[in-house]
Amino acid sequence: MLPLRPKLASDRHVERRPYTAWMRTQPLEILHRVYGYAAFRGRQQAIIEAVLAGRDCLVLMPTGGGKSLCYQIPAQVLPGAGVVVSPLIALMQDQVAALRQAGVRAAFLNSTVPWPEQQDIKRALVAGQLDLLYLAPERLVQAETLALLAEAQLALFAIDEAHCVSQWGHDFRQDYLGLDILAERFPDVPRLALTATADERTRGEIVSRLALRRPARFVSGFDRPNIRYRVQIKTSSANEQLAGFLAGHKGEAGIVYCLSRKKTEAVAERLRTAGYHALPYHAGLPARDRAEAQTRFLRDDGVVIVATVAFGLGIDKPDVRFVAHMDLPKSVEAYYQETGRAGRDGEPAEAWMIYGLQDVVRLRQMVDESVADEQHKRVERAKLDALLGWCEVTTCRRQALLRYFGDEPPAPCGNCDICLDPPRTFDGTVAAQKLMSCIVRTGARFGAGHVIDVLRGDETDKVRQHRHGRLSTFGIGADLTMRQWRSVLRQLVAGGYVYADAGRFGALGLTPAARPLLRGETTLTLREEAATAQPSRKRKTPAPSTDLSPPDAALFEALRACRKQLADEAELPPYVVFHDQTLRELVRLRPASLAAMLEIHGVGQAKLERYGEAFLNVLAAHAGTSDEQIVRAGLIA
Ligand code: ADP
Ligand code: ZN
Repeated sequence: MLPLRPKLASDRHVERRPYTAWMRTQPLEILHRVYGYAAFRGRQQAIIEAVLAGRDCLVLMPTGGGKSLCYQIPAQVLPGAGVVVSPLIALMQDQVAALRQAGVRAAFLNSTVPWPEQQDIKRALVAGQLDLLYLAPERLVQAETLALLAEAQLALFAIDEAHCVSQWGHDFRQDYLGLDILAERFPDVPRLALTATADERTRGEIVSRLALRRPARFVSGFDRPNIRYRVQIKTSSANEQLAGFLAGHKGEAGIVYCLSRKKTEAVAERLRTAGYHALPYHAGLPARDRAEAQTRFLRDDGVVIVATVAFGLGIDKPDVRFVAHMDLPKSVEAYYQETGRAGRDGEPAEAWMIYGLQDVVRLRQMVDESVADEQHKRVERAKLDALLGWCEVTTCRRQALLRYFGDEPPAPCGNCDICLDPPRTFDGTVAAQKLMSCIVRTGARFGAGHVIDVLRGDETDKVRQHRHGRLSTFGIGADLTMRQWRSVLRQLVAGGYVYADAGRFGALGLTPAARPLLRGETTLTLREEAATAQPSRKRKTPAPSTDLSPPDAALFEALRACRKQLADEAELPPYVVFHDQTLRELVRLRPASLAAMLEIHGVGQAKLERYGEAFLNVLAAHAGTSDEQIVRAGLIA
């Protein structure tokens, strides 16, 4: 272990430290020794150096980007403790547990901690024996806590989820407003504000409300390259669609989002019958059941939570392998936040969604019936339209998402449904004209089903009742199937030419944008839809979990069981012991000694001492079973 930089009495009063070599070498040493990681990611190193130089920082990084290291490491390098402000108690406990496993002197103070233990923590803080102290904002601003902190030497303040200070944001917390007191009381302690979601306006608010002093700004792109996006049209058998999707994720942890509470329970029940460890979660369940579901999700391997949007905030589980949406969320922002819970560990993960026009009608109706004022409703409708537009894109989904958030779009990603399986397009101008004329001719009073019946010339009761068989548009669309017309219609709604009036049971009408198209002044390219539902094609790329050969998969499972046992003994979530990525590297490299194991991603000194032997034993029991070894032994070609 390298000696830490000598602690100088004058450290507290150094406003800006000039850059020196230890600012680079010490963080790296800690990254290797404590965390077992090879290199910094993205802007981590630059952020850490800025903090070490005494600067305030504003850090914007996508979920899973690695924000925690940006304050955890400087807190270990600098003399004194780093104080972390975090809004969620459950999250604090997990972070502190993980840090302690890695040998870091971390603690949290909140109402769940027994009184005598609180006294011990306070003493340790004042004695300079803590690297990190986690606090909820309401606790931090109490006079007693501020007095305690004044007695201690402090390395930094980290304000996590800093967007909670914004009154315009969706997670505003009153307690965050009091945090500007830190600037006043601790002017020499650098402060970092960190968040995953903040538009330009919210960023400005964070800086001013927290009174950051000329902060160094670090804004990383929003991209989550390891998440594969897939969107499909909802059929009448949505449950089977889900079953098909989940078949590629057997034994993996994930979240299935549904719009209604009732549906979460029904879907969870179905999944349980099908053999999944599935649990419902919504705000209407007793608090005990919700807590239990959350604990199972964190502690057990392969739990699927079927939830409303009530689930997710503060869930910091790194190995969520998929997020499925059975219904359309409210906006692109909501979609991105919800899907962002997948793959925080950087391993392959999937975001899968099914949707249909009925979802749009239903969500519009919810907006219309809400008590919000008219301007707010307009915004909500526009956000819903933007999401629908995104669902119907015919070019790379990731590019479209990033563009929405104002990021420079990179090249097509190669990891979304559109890139992997590009849709065919056709000149849809005439089809659009036919459909729109039919909406006009039927009086803009009917929903999709009837309008398409008229187009296709189907003599239904309703057609007879309204004498729509006489219309000039009756039967002009017999060349396309119902399914194809629905696709055209969705694309027209997504493109803003047609709207479905939620207040009138989804009655279709035209927007002003439809006119030039009707007159033939503009043309329209549409995605081609197969005439009938196709049996789902064979996947071109294997699901993330199934790319191991059978002997490797067996070893992986054995390592996973070992991890689960160790985690249960310590009453910790398994990922606090080791991440999946670490298990995978163990499978791939099969280290035969403790020294070799230290080279593995995620294995630091403390964890090696704690768990190294147990995993080496599992590896030894499986020795001689890797593909390579079998090939060498001449057993397979
Ligand atoms: P955020 O708070 O930004 O969502 P975290 O700090 O929780 O992200 O980090 C996400 C995951 O990435 C964690 O499992 C963390 O251990 C891992 N991680 C962070 N930095 C690195 C790195 N430099 N190398 C490897 N893994 C990292
Ligand atoms: Zn793509």
